[in-house]
Amino acid sequence: MLTPPEISRYSRNILLDEVKRKGQETLKSSCVTVIGAGGLGSPVLYYLAAAGVGKITVLDSDTIDTTNLQRQILFKHSEIGLSKATLAKQRIQELNPFIEIESVSIRLNEENADLFLKDNDLVLEGSDNFETKFLTNDICCKLGVPLLIAGILRFDGSVLGVRPGIDPCYRCIYETLPPSNAIPSCSEAGVIGGMAGIIGSIQATEAVKFLLGLVTKDSPGVFGSILQLDAKSMDFHKVSLLRRSDCKSCSHLQYE
Ligand SMILES: [Zn+2]
Repeated sequence: MLTPPEISRYSRNILLDEVKRKGQETLKSSCVTVIGAGGLGSPVLYYLAAAGVGKITVLDSDTIDTTNLQRQILFKHSEIGLSKATLAKQRIQELNPFIEIESVSIRLNEENADLFLKDNDLVLEGSDNFETKFLTNDICCKLGVPLLIAGILRFDGSVLGVRPGIDPCYRCIYETLPPSNAIPSCSEAGVIGGMAGIIGSIQATEAVKFLLGLVTKDSPGVFGSILQLDAKSMDFHKVSLLRRSDCKSCSHLQYE
């Protein structure tokens, strides 16, 4: 299934006992969707593409703004005003021409979410807003699609993984969308650019592990937990999550 140029390209993966040729073929046959080609989406897309994840869809409705360039390393100064999704596709296709990449310049909403989230092995959410995080969680729980949700603000970042039917979901923790003025956004409160690199790289690493079948009961990584980083102290905390029995998103699922 892997061609000789692919075997060379992925040799540092294939050398790993946890990957080998079979694992690399699994990555090649994997299908993921990345919500948001911004600060988190940049490292996520680079590392998933570089790792050889075979089919990647990227969704982002925004165009590149000068204020994005402090952390959104997919883009160049000369590209201000252009579509993020289109440029993201171009950039990661240049990095790896052996994979299939689709870009959609659209914002995820109630009407299109089923279409974009179904038939994925994993969804990676890295948007800059809570509406999209809640919506992605709700639809993934409904469709039974595993997901990784990440967020960054100021010097803080977090990642959590949800395997519907196994792990508590995003709504089990936060229950309802916070009021629009309750939590500031990066554009209001700022963010250290490197946080996108750290948290996005954790998200990408957890994604590759998940696709390889390395997320297990004994070693669940961030699935079933939230990993939080306070970059001022450089302290990481991983907190196990509890299911909310009346959760609107996941209480219908039979849990293992
Ligand atoms: Zn839930």
